[in-house]
Amino acid sequence: MKRTLILSLAMLLITQLTFAQKTFIHAGKLIDVKNNQMLSEMTIIVEGEVITEVQKGYASPGRSDKLIDLKSKTVMPGLMDMHVHMENETSPRRYLDRFVDNEADIAFNSIIFAKTTLMAGFTTVRDLGGSGVNISLRNAINAGKVEGPRIITSGKSIAPTGGHADPTNGMRRDLMGDPGPEVGVINGVADARKAVRQQVKNGSDVIKITATGGVLSVAKDGNAPQFQQDEINAVIETATDFGIHVAAHAHGDEGMKRAVIGGIHSIEHGTYMSEETMDMMIEAGTWYVPTITAGKSVADYARIPGYYPAPVKAKAETIGPLIQSTFGKAYKRGVKIAFGTDAGVFPHGENYREFIYMTEVGMPNLEAIQTATLRSAELLGMEDRIGTIEKGKLADIIAVSGDPEKDIKVMKDVTFVMKEGKVFRMD
Ligand SMILES: [Zn+2]
Repeated sequence: MKRTLILSLAMLLITQLTFAQKTFIHAGKLIDVKNNQMLSEMTIIVEGEVITEVQKGYASPGRSDKLIDLKSKTVMPGLMDMHVHMENETSPRRYLDRFVDNEADIAFNSIIFAKTTLMAGFTTVRDLGGSGVNISLRNAINAGKVEGPRIITSGKSIAPTGGHADPTNGMRRDLMGDPGPEVGVINGVADARKAVRQQVKNGSDVIKITATGGVLSVAKDGNAPQFQQDEINAVIETATDFGIHVAAHAHGDEGMKRAVIGGIHSIEHGTYMSEETMDMMIEAGTWYVPTITAGKSVADYARIPGYYPAPVKAKAETIGPLIQSTFGKAYKRGVKIAFGTDAGVFPHGENYREFIYMTEVGMPNLEAIQTATLRSAELLGMEDRIGTIEKGKLADIIAVSGDPEKDIKVMKDVTFVMKEGKVFRMD
């Protein structure tokens, strides 16, 4: 009895000692993403997984504390990408892989993509569509079994028969079968409700619909609306009952309009977005997640002979190059922008390219970084926990060499990554 008591007291003491240790981060430059300004010579104090203090000057750590010297770096909140696909990555084999890869193969690949993404400074991502392995990946990362970003996942996307997220598009007739709402293929209001409920049951955090055709599916059309209004409304109403958001992939304007009318939370890509739709989005407070990098990438890959099947190549050439100018117009008009790249359509870890494309058409450098931090946290409704470096927030902190306010290209030179107080990268 006595021994047990002493043992538990000793355990308690050890635990308290471990928690008492603080980490002091000396930041040469620190981006204040709330006010889009650069601060210099700052100290961030981290205890456990939380930021407990942000002070001017270089505060001295106590004897048992740890010091991380980032005096020659620019420090900022962990980056957030609101549109990725953690299960796959572009390859000329992509259209064959779906016939030969088992779920386990997809899972092993996704472990590599997750780590690459985290090492590139992205501590939170929203996965907008895969097979469902992305749900297991999220769980494995949360459990600390696998290194990767915090994942908000949509599981499998929802589309009508033959739509952009119908998994059997382009297949031989006997392989096509008739996939239903269990795998996200819907026709009508009842299917729409069932598909959403199935995704929630599977463990999805957010719902993704393909409101129009898309580039990479083996289907001729990339722009036409794919759902009727009552189907979109049913998806959004059902998701809203669960308190979760719906994101809409959309290239054509009519599909976007229907999604906005239905109360969609974010429009992804938005290629042919009209000024009228932009105004509807401003009015409704709808987010725009541009994914310029995906557009540029597919246009580049389309030039490589045989990289894409013929119908995909044609769409990639027309749709791809247009997203950047749409983003420029939407930004100037005042549409709410969150950062998203569609990583997986191009190699994971190259998410930084989006910053370059955003700033090329008029967004100031620090504002682009704000879209990948504070603004993305707002899109997720998680701004009370992540998105800024402030007292009480989770310690998601990264650093780059150089000064991104002067040269946005340094966003690729990530040298330090901390997620929830744990250091994953320190070069
Ligand atoms: Zn996508």
